[in-house]
Amino acid sequence: MSTDNSPLDQLTGLITRKGFEEKLKAAVLHAQQTDRPLALAFLDIDHFKRLNDSLGHEAGDVIIKAVGDIVQRVAGDKAIVCRYGGEEYTLIFPDTEREQAFLVIESARSEIAQLKSLSDGKKKVNAQLTISGGIAAFPIDGQDENELLRKADQALYKAKNNGRNKIVLAYEEKMSPKTSHYTLTQLERLSELAKEQGVGEAVLLREALDNLLVKYKHAFASKK
Ligand code: GH3
Ligand code: MG
Ligand code: MG
Repeated sequence: MSTDNSPLDQLTGLITRKGFEEKLKAAVLHAQQTDRPLALAFLDIDHFKRLNDSLGHEAGDVIIKAVGDIVQRVAGDKAIVCRYGGEEYTLIFPDTEREQAFLVIESARSEIAQLKSLSDGKKKVNAQLTISGGIAAFPIDGQDENELLRKADQALYKAKNNGRNKIVLAYEEKMSPKTSHYTLTQLERLSELAKEQGVGEAVLLREALDNLLVKYKHAFASKK
């Protein structure tokens, strides 16, 4: 996503908090005017203070840059990625439903959790770490930028309070059982198919279940 003339953070090269605030304002206005969805995510490195204390501030900087790089790469052109401050990042997903934003962030979370070392391109730091995230969406969670920020922050707080290393949606919905039963690729395809067909994901899942029941009808019949 083009950064035009937004101020960039020196350490990470990401848009700064000031730039983010302007971008969010514009994105919310666009969403309101066009009646399009918008998702906002807050990410925060878990127990970063401990990492800083044990590895040193310089290694901490490498980690902040490396995590920013991963998040930026995974988000690609789907989101505007910003360094909100310290070890906190924000992502604006224009024209994006919260489930799509969730899949992107979840993929970054999972990748980061599996690493044994991180690099900023110059230095490598041996460390294992996790991130937590919160996602709020327009219009369901908030109608303006302040409410969206508040809801995304609350969702992040929930992720922190529920053991960290997880992404929480502000909208109260049980995403975790769903994600634990299906692969991310399956969920992504399901979401695309639902959009293409103009029906809900639940409708497609029910259809798949019906097909499954028909397929195994003989097995059921013979047991009766
Ligand atoms: P939690 O899991 O609850 O997020 O715990 P935490 O330790 O990550 O939370 P906290 O926000 O208290 O710690 C953030 C730390 O990040 C504190 C601060 O010293 C450090 N920090 C902020 N900016 C920078 C920076 O630019 N470089 C480095 N190395 N450390 C930074
Ligand atoms: Mg923090
Ligand atoms: Mg933190």
